Amino acid sequence: MASDSKHFLSGRKIVVCGAGLGGLSFVLSLLKSWDAAIPAPQVIIVDADGREESLNRGLYDLQLNADTEESALVGLRDLGLSDAVLAQAVTQNNPDATMHVWDKSWKSLMTIKPKTVEGFTTGGVRIRRTALLAVLVDAVEARTKIAWATSVQDAKRLPDGTLRVSLQDKASGATSQEECDLLVAADGDDSTLRKIFRPKDVTKLTGHVAIGGQVDFGDKASAPAPLTRDFGIIVGGDGVASAVVQLNNNGKLLWSVFKEEKTPRATAYDNADAAAFQALLDEARASAKSIGEPLPELIGQTKQETTFARSVRERDAFGHEAAELRGVVFIGDANRLVSVYMNNGGDLAVRDGITLARELVAQPSLAAATAAYDKAALARSTKSIKAGRSTMNTAHLSGWKWTMAKTALSAGGFLAGN
Ligand SMILES: Cc1cc2nc3c(=O)[nH]c(=O)nc-3n(C[C@H](O)[C@H](O)[C@H](O)COP(=O)(O)OP(=O)(O)OC[C@H]3O[C@@H](n4cnc5c(N)ncnc54)[C@H](O)[C@@H]3O)c2cc1C
Repeated sequence: MASDSKHFLSGRKIVVCGAGLGGLSFVLSLLKSWDAAIPAPQVIIVDADGREESLNRGLYDLQLNADTEESALVGLRDLGLSDAVLAQAVTQNNPDATMHVWDKSWKSLMTIKPKTVEGFTTGGVRIRRTALLAVLVDAVEARTKIAWATSVQDAKRLPDGTLRVSLQDKASGATSQEECDLLVAADGDDSTLRKIFRPKDVTKLTGHVAIGGQVDFGDKASAPAPLTRDFGIIVGGDGVASAVVQLNNNGKLLWSVFKEEKTPRATAYDNADAAAFQALLDEARASAKSIGEPLPELIGQTKQETTFARSVRERDAFGHEAAELRGVVFIGDANRLVSVYMNNGGDLAVRDGITLARELVAQPSLAAATAAYDKAALARSTKSIKAGRSTMNTAHLSGWKWTMAKTALSAGGFLAGN
């Protein structure tokens, strides 16, 4: 950005709907990239949740990677947050670990050695979502205010092309309006703004369910081979698959069993209910009966409070070329939902926020910035969704199709469903 020219966003107003991973990364990146010599845009960031409510929501660990220049940890380093993120990480990836595709007897058919971007000491971390959010919130609040407990209720385009956003304060119910030149929709999977601007874009069930839980062996030597270090997918070859990942480097593992389930369950699984927990373990054993040890051992040692049963969901990514989206940009889960077979939605949300901010700073107009954002972010999201589908298709192969895929996997090439 040339410091002697006025930028197209100078003195304009940007409303960011959602202070999650995407919205906060966007604001931080914009504040960091903006040339202090040029009048800045006014940025208003709102979140429907209260501050404490938001910081205590999402009690799960996120895997964030530094395996390509496009990954979230690289973006967070560029925002000056590497040290804070590493300090909060539950664990760092074991550099010796290998990802496998195993058959039902745990014979390795294919291996992938995770990469590490130059300059990083680890290829990835696991971090509590709440801890990552706190790092981002602290960094944003050191620079600007977040309007907590304030939700976007509606947004309308005015005749001059700007947008009028209707807000509501959660405590008092009081409503207010903001007129802005750019509206960043970072309001997650259940996005209010997507319902307004792209009402047909709904999250779909893939027709599968993931059930699973965690086991803690206390130290890696006590975990059963080959899970002392490695992780991956186990394909039963009868339509059912499993995945096991390391939650730390001391024998804490997460197992999942994936199977077809065309109709979602009538009753949501409650892991506080002892009978439902036993039924879930029985279901996992029966569904994954073709997969040998150590999966049954893991199932037998699962901690009740860590168990889950979730329908697999997904939504395609979209670009912003349509006239009705002028001045509205969707990032993170509001734009697309990556299924659990890829599970890098957080990684993508951080990258979306950073990419959009950088393009807004670098490009000569909103249209050019949006097009440049779409070029990078849409390609990245589409690749992830495609990779997730490919894994899903492979995981659920059976009969002769699995026999052929197995041969292809062992020969080093593959990808069913591509
Ligand atoms: C169990 C689980 C495990 C996961 N594991 C991983 C993983 O290992 N790696 C990974 O990369 N990803 C993972 N993900 C996905 C990841 O958590 C999400 O993709 C990511 O949080 C999306 O970020 P976001 O900013 O787009 O949306 P969110 O984090 O959902 O933030 C949206 C924000 O918008 C606010 N909001 C909503 N509506 C409004 C409104 N009308 N007005 C104002 N504010 C609003 C919400 O309060 C929220 O704060 C996992 C998800 C789950 C559920």
